[in-house]
Amino acid sequence: MSSVAVTGIGELVSCDGSDPDLLGIRSKAALIVEDGLVAWIGPAADGPSADSEIDVDGRVIIPGFVDSHSHLVFAGDRGSEFVARMTGQPYDGGGIGVTVAATRTAADEELTRLLATRIAELRALGTTTVEIKSGYGLTVADEVRALRIARRFTPETTFLGAHVIPAEYARDRAGYIDLVTGLMLQSAVPYARWIDVFCEPHSPHAFDAEEAREVLTAGAEAGLGMRVHGNQLGPGPGVQLAVELGAASVDHCTYLNDADVDALAAAAETTVATLLPGVEFCTRSPYPDAARLISAGVAIALATDCNPGTCYSSSMPWVISLAVREMGLSPAQAMFAATAGSAKSLRRTDIGRLVVGNRADLTVLDAPSYLHLAYRPGVPIARAISLRASGETQAE
Ligand SMILES: [Zn+2]
Repeated sequence: MSSVAVTGIGELVSCDGSDPDLLGIRSKAALIVEDGLVAWIGPAADGPSADSEIDVDGRVIIPGFVDSHSHLVFAGDRGSEFVARMTGQPYDGGGIGVTVAATRTAADEELTRLLATRIAELRALGTTTVEIKSGYGLTVADEVRALRIARRFTPETTFLGAHVIPAEYARDRAGYIDLVTGLMLQSAVPYARWIDVFCEPHSPHAFDAEEAREVLTAGAEAGLGMRVHGNQLGPGPGVQLAVELGAASVDHCTYLNDADVDALAAAAETTVATLLPGVEFCTRSPYPDAARLISAGVAIALATDCNPGTCYSSSMPWVISLAVREMGLSPAQAMFAATAGSAKSLRRTDIGRLVVGNRADLTVLDAPSYLHLAYRPGVPIARAISLRASGETQAE
């Protein structure tokens, strides 16, 4: 058993849920890691000895960010679509077909290389767990391929065959639902932990409530946990469906009415509302009122939705700064939502909080306080640290 002492921690943000702001902040702390798990946390002066030591020289240690919503397996480029949106064209989900075409023609090695580059990028921004969805293949072989590649990088893989109706099924929606709930699902299950659906009546490319129910129910019967893209482009049935079926997460929640908020509050132990403010930023959409959700008792998470169409950023610090600036969260609420909150949306208790027994997924901030995540938007102060057996730390 090898142990590493992390010392010189100016501020340790554990996100352990303790009062008053759930962050469990300690100053002048130390942390002992044994075999990749947190073995001890306490005052630096009382720290037990370890095989090796990493001195972070007064910096901040936080739990690595948990990015619980991304679409990272894709090829192609949609920069021009972004420019069109910035000059006034609305988003309706149609551009997904462009990425599907480019992804289908990319070789396995190319998709793997692109994904590895994106994973390195998000670790360099402080993220240590990422959920990755398929959804740019939309054939049995291409969806399985995306999940198989994603599985090499994360256990949190999500089958999103129900991303949009592919062009070849535009006149046979029922035929595509049969495929997604049949052969495609069966083929995806060995490589997926979750199923997701783009439930969005405001997009002609996405799925209505009944179609989404069919997809989610089939996935649950096949043993997958449920996640939902809901209420993104306008008021819709996604939130109510997610709550009714007991989904772990309903994501976007851009347009919520009072009944949606009440339903989410009542289901807070089961269903997390995952907010994706990078999407509102990149599509010039209104931001949801996250402060209202918190005061109603809704469990919230923050994630990037990193994808080539509506938010090509994997930066959780940027998401935190947006959540504070635009959605009414305090820096503490945003910090918690981006770690423990998003871990809860993945039904994980071993990540997102630095407590004894949890994974020692550590992110270091080049700052005197976690407040700088919101206070210094766009400045690269966060990075995940790797704890090698030798005790070396490597910025990635
Ligand atoms: Zn998404």
